[in-house]
Amino acid sequence: MLDVYQFPARSDNFGVLIHDPKTGATASIDAPDAEPILAALRQTGWELSEILITHHHGDHTAGNRKLKKLTGCTIIGPAKEAGSIPEIDVKVSEGDTVEVGSAKALVVETPGHTRGHISYYFPDDGIVFVGDTLFSVGCGRLLEGDARMMWRSLQKLMALPPETKLYCGHEYTRANTRFALTVEPGNEALQARAAEAEKLASEGEPALPTTIAQELATNPFLRPSSPEIQKRLGMEGRELWEIFGETRRRKDRF
Ligand SMILES: [Zn+2]
Repeated sequence: MLDVYQFPARSDNFGVLIHDPKTGATASIDAPDAEPILAALRQTGWELSEILITHHHGDHTAGNRKLKKLTGCTIIGPAKEAGSIPEIDVKVSEGDTVEVGSAKALVVETPGHTRGHISYYFPDDGIVFVGDTLFSVGCGRLLEGDARMMWRSLQKLMALPPETKLYCGHEYTRANTRFALTVEPGNEALQARAAEAEKLASEGEPALPTTIAQELATNPFLRPSSPEIQKRLGMEGRELWEIFGETRRRKDRF
């Protein structure tokens, strides 16, 4: 089983290292910046072998050049965004397998935040790394794709086993629960999650990772079928992707 080490990077990114104890292989999920990742490597004593890039944004790729130069790691990323990912070695698409030592990830294309965004799903470890597609009680902004495209991506993640652990590129849980409570105030699981996130924050702890089950229960972007959300938005019976899109628009203005 993979060991996972999570750490803050830049102003609000979250870095993750995964390590296969059997082979010693170690991958960084994205490369927000070289320094915090190098510090995490020193802390764990692990040696970087791969970087798995989810999408081309600078706060996910800024460390590529320096980390490759210092460690000789292999950089893997979405084929559809290869042109804007520094130092990319291996270009992957839907259904491809990525190996980190003896651990295997399936590449799941989850466009919407960017048009080529991918997620890495490790079925044997029950972990998915979703970059800026899905957040704890939130989702990425639709910077390149539209609501219909993002909703299809989110449905792929919703179909994963509920116990799957979910790691994302940022930690916005508290702010996200404040918005979520405006569209679904009666959701008791969400109320409990909001209280938990406040408590964790007061202890200086992140509310990550989350799970697919927890997001299905609390995340308004995965809950357009909720009667309460439909009623609050005045969109009873409309297409789910449209309700998702309206929820996203309201969050953009929140
Ligand atoms: Zn991004």
